[in-house]
Amino acid sequence: MAGPFPTLRITRNALVPEGSFAEAQAAYLHPDPTLVRELDTLLSSKKIGVVAHFYMDPELQGVLGACSWKHIGVSDSLVMADRGVRMAEAGCRTVVVLGVDFMSENARAMLSAAGHDEVPVYRVASDPIGCSLAESAEAPAYGAYLAEAAATERALHVVYINTSLRTKAKAHARVPTITCTSSNVVQTILQAAAQIPEVAIFFGPDTYMGQNLHSLLSALAEMDDAAIRAVHPAHDRTSIRSLLGRFRYFEQGTCIVHHMFGAEVVKTTREHYGDAYVTAHLEVPGEMFALGLDKQHRGEGVVGSTSNILGFILEKTRAALTQRDGAPLRFVLGTEAGMITPIVRQVQGLLRDAASDLAVEVVFPVAAEAVARTEDPALPIVPGVASGEGCSVAGGCATCPYMKRNSLDALVALCRRIDEVPSDTLRPFEPRRYVETIGGRAVAEVGSEPILHMRWFQQHGQLSDTLVRDVATRHEQADSE
Ligand code: SF4
Repeated sequence: MAGPFPTLRITRNALVPEGSFAEAQAAYLHPDPTLVRELDTLLSSKKIGVVAHFYMDPELQGVLGACSWKHIGVSDSLVMADRGVRMAEAGCRTVVVLGVDFMSENARAMLSAAGHDEVPVYRVASDPIGCSLAESAEAPAYGAYLAEAAATERALHVVYINTSLRTKAKAHARVPTITCTSSNVVQTILQAAAQIPEVAIFFGPDTYMGQNLHSLLSALAEMDDAAIRAVHPAHDRTSIRSLLGRFRYFEQGTCIVHHMFGAEVVKTTREHYGDAYVTAHLEVPGEMFALGLDKQHRGEGVVGSTSNILGFILEKTRAALTQRDGAPLRFVLGTEAGMITPIVRQVQGLLRDAASDLAVEVVFPVAAEAVARTEDPALPIVPGVASGEGCSVAGGCATCPYMKRNSLDALVALCRRIDEVPSDTLRPFEPRRYVETIGGRAVAEVGSEPILHMRWFQQHGQLSDTLVRDVATRHEQADSE
């Protein structure tokens, strides 16, 4: 290998992996046509819509991407539930969610809120598909954090979408809460500060993202007013400095995948890949975030959501296609390795359209040996972790063991059963149902409100009057008690 990390070189007609991790990723990008045909037939004949997260494994994404059934969407978590609603509106009779449990819960809640209670939502596993981050918001420490928020004047809880419906409901019952994703969290916070004078922001549960948001606000506070207004027109240096003093984040919440992009990975990246563009998800630890931010300031990187990362890679590829020298492009992929599938598809699409000989290289900042062995002689290794073992500490695994519970076999098995077996036998595949109530209202109903507040913000560019009033009124209510 040219460097210590595995790489995948993408050209118009070929994929050249270096290192066993990249080889395993690339192997799945050419799916078995028999499998593709079977899944395609099952989905279209039974009108099953599929919404999947970008972090699905390359085998699953490879097959989904080759299907011709139009109601298949692979996206970040912000878009997943909305796609499910659109699929129901377009006539899908069932929606299958490939992700972790909070994603299927969100899809169920949004379908019900849109009047599609009759469309069943299924996961592909009959037992829970957890998430270390979502679990950290269910710990007593998060309850204490919310108690502090509830005791604070004009508190707004900005909760990451990677949490259960119960967490969202319990939090919203105590403190006005809006959901966010890594795509919209910065604008959500800035907009809240613009609309709600003296708002106190309590962000959680992702600690790295909280630290990174604090760093981002600190960097913003050093910029001139014109540059700050380009980020958000209602802000200047004074308002950002004031907001910084009212921004808090939870300090005990970690995504086990992004946790792996630590100091060692960053050191190797700096030493061996100084010429590469660096992409970093907002959830990564501070060292990787600082590197990504530094590169972003120089136009050589991006820090943001999975969609921001994909968008940046495509933008740089398009720009390179207009230049004559055609020097290879290199990107360090600072997020979950499942992103490689949409990157390969879309980058190759650009190269083919332009009939270009440009090469685009994706560097996985993981240990080359971060692979698991299988019993399958045709595919002896797969990227990432052996089931249930957790991530390799030898440089990071960059694959989420929870997301990888969504296997192709499990999807096909579920689709075969849909419409063939009594629907109550599929009940274990439904998103978690909450029987408890909060203040006399169902958990699903209360937990949907923070998501609906986020959707309102997405659609209207500002927080709803209901949410703004809630922040002020709860404070007044607390005052009068
Ligand atoms: S990558 Fe896995 S552990 Fe991390 S937030 Fe996503 S689902 Fe949770």
